[in-house]
Amino acid sequence: MNDLTACVVTPRVSIEGFDPLGVAVHRASTIVFEDAAAYEARGQRGHNGYSYGLYGTPTTRTLEEKLTLLEQGTRTFLAPSGQSANALGVLPFLSAGDKILIVDTAYPPMRDFALRDLARMGVLVDFYDPLSIDDLESRLDSRTRIVWCESPGSTTMEVQDLPRISALAKKAGALVGFDNTWATPLNFKPLVHGADIVTEALTKYVSGHSDVLMGSITVGNETLIEPIRGLFGRYGIGVSSDDASLVLRGFETLGVRLKHSSDVAHRLMDRIARHPLVAAVLHPARAACPGHEFWKRDFLGGSGVFGILFKPEAAAHVAEAMNTFRIFAIGASWGGTRSLAAPMPVKPHRTATQWREADLVLRLNIGLESEEDLAADIDRFLDQLDRSTTAPERALRAADGPLSRIG
Ligand SMILES: *Cc1c(COP(=O)(O)O)cnc(C)c1O
Repeated sequence: MNDLTACVVTPRVSIEGFDPLGVAVHRASTIVFEDAAAYEARGQRGHNGYSYGLYGTPTTRTLEEKLTLLEQGTRTFLAPSGQSANALGVLPFLSAGDKILIVDTAYPPMRDFALRDLARMGVLVDFYDPLSIDDLESRLDSRTRIVWCESPGSTTMEVQDLPRISALAKKAGALVGFDNTWATPLNFKPLVHGADIVTEALTKYVSGHSDVLMGSITVGNETLIEPIRGLFGRYGIGVSSDDASLVLRGFETLGVRLKHSSDVAHRLMDRIARHPLVAAVLHPARAACPGHEFWKRDFLGGSGVFGILFKPEAAAHVAEAMNTFRIFAIGASWGGTRSLAAPMPVKPHRTATQWREADLVLRLNIGLESEEDLAADIDRFLDQLDRSTTAPERALRAADGPLSRIG
């Protein structure tokens, strides 16, 4: 073998006795075959075989397998982001004339995808109230192919009664899709409670370090595998083994991170809820959260992401008060080690329901910093909010009478 060839043809060393705990990063586009006949027959290698890097490597399959186990599903597909998992999780099942019913509290890009792209394909798009079974029932018909759930709802945290929704959808012949990002497969198992397809933004808690984007789709039934697998191939959707390896590494500490963030969040929420300018703290574990009873019945725990709803006279001053944060960083996404704060509007993302509170929810993600430092940051923020909200504004609001309280 000449040197130039030796540069290219890499020797295989023995891996006997090498048994690491970590999962190797297998980078590949090309996969080689022992002979031409094996190459020609590569299409028959089935879902678990290897034929081309896009369709899976041992690294991506390991992550898929871990998710399938935790979701108690049949098979998992990895997508480049949580939102791509949502879009690609419903796309193979919809044609012109079909209807998709999306929960009104869905992650806003899912609404956008449906209203722009699915509608352009001729799919009928409608939204339903997360808390009203009657509303869902009135919109369900024989054209409905998918009922899309997200629980708790984005930003406002309403918890859905998945078993009832699923029973209704099944009767109408529709599939149930469920975005489980807030709970993660540790705290809720949608497939066990009646969903057919569950998606996760692995970007958030599962990867856990704010440095990678990925999503997953897990199905609970063999017949749903081929439509998704086929669509992924035709659209050329896959993820890199390097990214999958980052997610696998973060996954190992998911349990302790989630538990810690949730415990600290509970104590901080009590502190925040006592403030007179706070109208409600939005988190499914709080008794006043709409759908709290379903959370108690179906979920195995909570996470460290919650919303703060302010009295109307204070809402306009939240942005200014956020300048006092020293520990909370301001930014989108959540589920990483750093605590984050993000002001979120609600009204532009609701059509089937009406949001009657102040149109700003401050979403907090509780990370892994010292609880004492986080509490001090929250106190600083609330003190500034108090100073900014002037006496005349308070008097004006007091004259309006008591506000509706949602929790
Ligand atoms: C963040 C999020 C997504 C999207 O995840 P990306 O990986 O950022 O695309 C989807 N659903 C929910 C509920 C989310 O919070």
